[in-house]
Amino acid sequence: MEHAEFNKDLLKFLNSSPTPWHAVATMKVQLDAAGFEELDEKDDWSLEPNQGYYAIRNGSSIVAFRTGTRDVSASGIRMVGAHTDSPCLKVKPNPEVRRKGFFQLGVEVYGGVLLNPWFDRDLSLAGRVTVLDEDGEVRDTLLDFRKPVAFIPSLAIHLDREANSNRTVNPQTDLPPVVMQVPESDTTSFADLLRQQIATESGMKVRKVLGYELSFYDASEASFIGLRDEFIASARLDNLLSCYIGLQSLLKTSGDEAALLVCNDHEEVGSMSAEGAQGPFLASVLERWCGAGKSRAIARSMMISADNAHGIHPNYMDKHDENHGPQLNEGPVIKVNHNQRYATNSRSAAVYRHISDELGLPHQTFVVRSDMGCGSTIGPLTAGNLGVTTLDIGVPQFGMHSIRELIGTEDGYTLFRVLTEFMQRDRVL
Ligand SMILES: [Zn+2]
Repeated sequence: MEHAEFNKDLLKFLNSSPTPWHAVATMKVQLDAAGFEELDEKDDWSLEPNQGYYAIRNGSSIVAFRTGTRDVSASGIRMVGAHTDSPCLKVKPNPEVRRKGFFQLGVEVYGGVLLNPWFDRDLSLAGRVTVLDEDGEVRDTLLDFRKPVAFIPSLAIHLDREANSNRTVNPQTDLPPVVMQVPESDTTSFADLLRQQIATESGMKVRKVLGYELSFYDASEASFIGLRDEFIASARLDNLLSCYIGLQSLLKTSGDEAALLVCNDHEEVGSMSAEGAQGPFLASVLERWCGAGKSRAIARSMMISADNAHGIHPNYMDKHDENHGPQLNEGPVIKVNHNQRYATNSRSAAVYRHISDELGLPHQTFVVRSDMGCGSTIGPLTAGNLGVTTLDIGVPQFGMHSIRELIGTEDGYTLFRVLTEFMQRDRVL
């Protein structure tokens, strides 16, 4: 896949993936098109050599893999990991708030949201709804309003003179988005609105809405930015960018080697769930694939945990160690933290640097300032759970956890090229 096409398809991937469920559905379409076979965790599996498979859990996490032509216990698995979720505002179970004729929805803050950028945005709403259909079946359906339907207006500066020096955000009282204006007598419920939207989107007649997980998102689409198109701006670059890169690498390799991509939900809230990286999803897939050879396979395997890194910001240069300020468009960033907030060790870093050097591609290294705390990823959790040698790496970005983030146009493609080579190497460690 050539560079310009790679970035154009990235924009499409981001736009069609407003929630983890949509991201997994988007990935499923591409895997199906490439001949990967879906596995149901409820069934017996009998896996063939040299075939692609994938399993989905909760609709929001996915493990996709190629079995390769060799015995995995002797050849190991080239693994790439990422996460499907991003910090956002999720609709509460009883969300209706009526004040002064405005119909608003109460929201719960999911993950470490940078709240200020959510004001004055054209917001849409998407996620999964579980319904009782007209035949009395309980079923899940994906929903996406796909147009601006909500807004969180700022308070005018005239009513808050301290706004630029002192404004704080109270997530309970300041955030409920306005979705419509209604007369006093109105009794519309949020479930009514969902029923109408589901009928519009899919024609499905819904008897009852039984549950939902819906989040607001920025309705403006991903775009190229900069006088020379040096950047890409979008929501959810952390970490749909890495899901996209991992998927394209897996699709590109068709070789003999066993390769795997895992994209987990719930990273932003600590990963402890049935489908999160602290849960048993990946271990269970490996057990069913490798059987008694699992431990040997893992000992020969390596995991590359891909999650974005903080690029050095020209207005806040002192937030980085002077020797470890990754630049946008100067290569993916190997993330090091000897306190194991990142799982990188000198061996896994060496594997990456060696492949990257062979391809003549740039790479950078990040370690957090010694007087600041460090973030984390699914890397240490997966390494700790499976006992697999792991590397933490990511594309440098600005504005992590903002409603709109920024990356360089070069770095995603660079990481894709290295991961593709990694996934088809006959020996990784
Ligand atoms: Zn992330």
